[in-house]
Amino acid sequence: MGHAHFDFTGEVAIVTGGASGIGRAIVEALANAGARVHAFDKHFDSGIAGAVVCHTVDLKDPHAPAKLALRVLALEGRIDHLVNNAGITRDAVLWKLEDAAWDEVLDVNLGASFRMLRAVVPPMRQRGKGRIVQIASINGLRGKLGQANYSASKAGVIALTRTAARELGHFGITVNAIAPGLIETPMTAGLPLEVRERAKNETASGRLGQPTDVASAVLFLLSEAAAHITGTVLPVDGGQLA
Ligand code: NAD
Repeated sequence: MGHAHFDFTGEVAIVTGGASGIGRAIVEALANAGARVHAFDKHFDSGIAGAVVCHTVDLKDPHAPAKLALRVLALEGRIDHLVNNAGITRDAVLWKLEDAAWDEVLDVNLGASFRMLRAVVPPMRQRGKGRIVQIASINGLRGKLGQANYSASKAGVIALTRTAARELGHFGITVNAIAPGLIETPMTAGLPLEVRERAKNETASGRLGQPTDVASAVLFLLSEAAAHITGTVLPVDGGQLA
């Protein structure tokens, strides 16, 4: 799928969780649209084509976002876009959910997103412009069996998005969230067939989502076409919530 109608030439983007699945599709789409992309991830199995710089980092390290934002600034002199995409699941029904699984999911999905935001906002404020997209989930907008930690983290991401949009709007910075439905990635590859079938049956489109479906929506929200859109949550779910 092409994103040729968006032109990010000369712009600098950070994408967390950029090695796999949705993040990788976002990295590739941005690079194809002319951006210089900095992908942050725990590990990169293979190189990514185009103007992409890969940074190996564990975002559970609370100091990593500030350090890496400074490194990108030193290399590029600007940060135009942040896509907070890194995320994990540690599913269990809540009476079996251990503290460690609660803490880890909240820390990676919500805590790291907050720390990334805090790190990129000062240079964006200074330039009077910035675009931030956070990858939430439809399960942050509804309850989901076995995902108390994940749903709470994604609902938190949505609340963080709305507050950040209010705080940053008059500095020329927009902050939006995307709520994907079930997307075919390594994260969902191990789900039982009946879970995937149930999700497919929930859609109006009759198919599961692909990483490029999410990447298209991200590029739109990062583009000038979305200049007056902020604080919103855009489901990319084939109608799962409809
Ligand atoms: P994925 O597992 O394929 O990719 C996630 C990436 O994040 C991986 O490359 C992983 O290494 C990275 N990551 C995880 N923890 C990290 C850490 N501590 N430090 C650095 N990098 C880390 O998953 P995906 O399906 O592409 O998910 C991407 C985002 O989309 C996540 O936030 C996920 O919650 C969200 N999402 C996915 C779906 C889906 O159905 N796949 C649905 C809704 C929302």
